[in-house]
Amino acid sequence: MKIVVTVKLVPDPNAEKRIDAATKRLVRTGAETVLNPYDEYALEAGLQLKERAGGDSRVTVFSMAPEPLRETLRKALAMGADDAVVLSDPGLQGSDVWATAYAVAAALRKLDFDLLIVGGLTDDSSTGAVPGALAEHLGLPCVTNARKVTIADGRLEIERETDVGYQTVRSPLPALLTTALTFGEPRYASLKGIMGAKKKTIATTSLAELSLDLGVGESGSKTELRSFAPPAPRGKGRIVEAGDGPAGAAAIFEFLQEKKLI
Ligand SMILES: Cc1cc2nc3c(=O)[nH]c(=O)nc-3n(C[C@H](O)[C@H](O)[C@H](O)COP(=O)(O)OP(=O)(O)OC[C@H]3O[C@@H](n4cnc5c(N)ncnc54)[C@H](O)[C@@H]3O)c2cc1C
Repeated sequence: MKIVVTVKLVPDPNAEKRIDAATKRLVRTGAETVLNPYDEYALEAGLQLKERAGGDSRVTVFSMAPEPLRETLRKALAMGADDAVVLSDPGLQGSDVWATAYAVAAALRKLDFDLLIVGGLTDDSSTGAVPGALAEHLGLPCVTNARKVTIADGRLEIERETDVGYQTVRSPLPALLTTALTFGEPRYASLKGIMGAKKKTIATTSLAELSLDLGVGESGSKTELRSFAPPAPRGKGRIVEAGDGPAGAAAIFEFLQEKKLI
């Protein structure tokens, strides 16, 4: 069973985000770069499937990221992935979602896999558009938001989280799968894993190896960020004072009614 997990490298979610006014791009320096938290769930799914399948099953992590950030993927290798591939090229700078998905799909086409697991959402740009675009480019069935995954008789079966419960969805392989945050906590890297990761391969590929028909980067991007603004500051809260018991309950009821919440 060959599994590829896509991992975006993002600024630490706890760091304050800043957009460069001139380029209108997220400032990625000054904050530690980490694995996109959603992708750690995707990796956990991949590692569990590999363990269950046994034999010569492998998990490869893939990222499109600037070359200096590639060592961040060592954490995914320490968690248990077998190797990593990074698509890095200055020509990718300024790629919007379309250009990103186009380039990533071209790089993934060079990898041999039965299952592609994608995180579903990123912590920085958060469009959630990449998985569907990858499935379209690669001609794969796209099963999303899995909280439970099994593979039997060469078919993928998932429990798919929805607002009102879950659906059971089946698909042939190869397929693209995204994981829900209810999948289960990603594992911590063990000391043995951390030591072993030092010897694992992080291969780099570039645009020259992909022979793309269409442009990527700034010139190949079809969308333009017109403007950006921070969220409006929150208004001052109102403190409703009331005693315990019926008076307090009535005050809370009145407040919720006023806000049309009940
Ligand atoms: C005009 C414009 C210019 C931009 N320029 C830049 C730029 O110069 N540099 C920059 O970093 N961003 C840039 N962006 C943002 C960039 O397009 C998005 O970060 C990228 O398309 C992924 O979108 P997302 O983060 O919303 O992914 P989502 O769709 O939310 O991600 C879902 C899943 O897709 C996978 N995924 C997404 N991105 C990657 C990746 N790079 N590698 C591996 N897996 C991935 C992950 O598994 C992730 O969980 C630009 C956007 C626009 C509109």
